[in-house]
Order: sequence, then structure tokens, then C-alpha cells
Amino acid sequence: MLRVPRSSTCLNCGYDLQGIAPDGKCPECGVRASVSRSGDALETAPLPYLLKLYWGAGLLRWAWVAFIAIVVVGCVQGLVADSVFRAAAMAVSAMFVCAEWLVTTQQPQRWRAPRGNAARLVVRAATCCRLVASVLNAVDVQSLQVFETGLVVVLSTIIGHVAISLYFRAMAVRIRDSEMVRAATSLIWLPAVVVVAGFVLANILGTLVAVATVVGLFLVLVRGYFTVIEQFRRGLSRAMDVAARRELAGQAPAAVGVVGSDED
Ligand SMILES: [Zn+2]
Repeated sequence: MLRVPRSSTCLNCGYDLQGIAPDGKCPECGVRASVSRSGDALETAPLPYLLKLYWGAGLLRWAWVAFIAIVVVGCVQGLVADSVFRAAAMAVSAMFVCAEWLVTTQQPQRWRAPRGNAARLVVRAATCCRLVASVLNAVDVQSLQVFETGLVVVLSTIIGHVAISLYFRAMAVRIRDSEMVRAATSLIWLPAVVVVAGFVLANILGTLVAVATVVGLFLVLVRGYFTVIEQFRRGLSRAMDVAARRELAGQAPAAVGVVGSDED
């Protein structure tokens, strides 16, 4: 069973809630004590914030579909003009940036950073690095020798992948989905397995077997991504249901100005 740490302080203002009744409210800011005591459960988060995560996860799914389409098209020589292909690749990159930015939206007004916050920040940093490097690459400032843009893209992709897997795992705990915790955990290690397996097999059994294995494992990786994204979207739907009911009942943290102040 998944354990979510319970908080004895107000998640909104940090007030010590010891001795406050289960149905009571924080004396400092008025947020229900039960919201803080539920730990980091995502269903206690404001609805507009949950909605942004949901849209981000949806866009991320389409970015992956577009990415696979690009890879397939790229494998067929001369199917599209080089300039068209490069423009499409840039559009897919932009989709990933938007999706990752949205899905890592900061939870508004939290006294204590929620679970997975460090991973969230690393995802954003890696996304920015990748974007800058790919733009520099596209406009060909390579000749200026600013830095090795290709290396930056590879490194930020690897770091970004590990970070977003850790972020999804943290979110899985917050939506109390142990299946998603497992799926996100295996997602962390899969690319390393792909690379190592490809390298070892290429040396032992030759290039063809290695390529087949890498392609197979890559499909497993993509499937893993889709699984995690779908589980996250389902969990978010449930959390949004709870949040919407709570806000309709007028018990929202919105009553103390938490909702709608998410500058990011
Ligand atoms: Zn409070």
C-alpha cells in the first residue's frame, strides 16, 4: 500500500495544527485542517492548477505521437524535403517544451514545496537548455564555437528524461496510484537499458541484432511513456472531480485566495 506522509502543519501557511479538530480550520489562514492532514494528495490542490497539469499531460501525449511520426518519416529517405523535415522537427520540439512546461506548473501558494518539486525544476531547466541548444543548432552558430550544441541536446535530453520520470513518480504518490509509481520507476532506467543492450549486442551479435533490439526497447520505452501519461491523466480526472465538488461546496482553499494566483 502506498504511504503518503501526513502533515501536522498547515500546507498553506505553515501553522502548527496540533490540537485542531479533524473538521476544523487553520486559525491563521482558514484552510481546512483535513486538506493539510491528507498530506500531498493532489485532490486537495486547486482546480485551475490540476487543469493545467491535465492539459500538459494531454499535449505531451500528442508531442510523442508527433515525435514518432517524425522518426518514421526521417527513416524513409527523400519522403519530404529537408527544409520541411527540419521545420516539422522544430514544431515537435516546441510541442514538447509547451507540454513539459504546462505539466510541471508550480502549485500555487504553498508554504512548503510539494513532493517532486526539485525534479519539476530540473525538467524545466533541461527543457530550456534543449530549446536554446536546438535553436542555436538550427541557425547554425556552430561555427561560432559557442559550445557543442549537439552534446547539450543529448545531455539535457537524458537529464530531462530522468527528471520527468522522477516527477511523474512523485505525482503518482500524490494521486495514490501504486501502478503508476511502478511504471514511472521503470521509465527512469529504460533508456540506460536501451543504450547498454544496444552497445553490448552490437559487439557480440553484430549491428543488425543490436538495431532490432534497440528499436524493440525504444517501443517499450514509448509504451511506458504513454502508460504513465494515461495513468496520470486518469488520476488527475479523479482529483479534479474531488476538487470541483469541494469548490462547489464552497470549501475551497479559494476562499482564502489560494486559487487563481498561480503566477509561473
Ligand atoms: Zn494556514
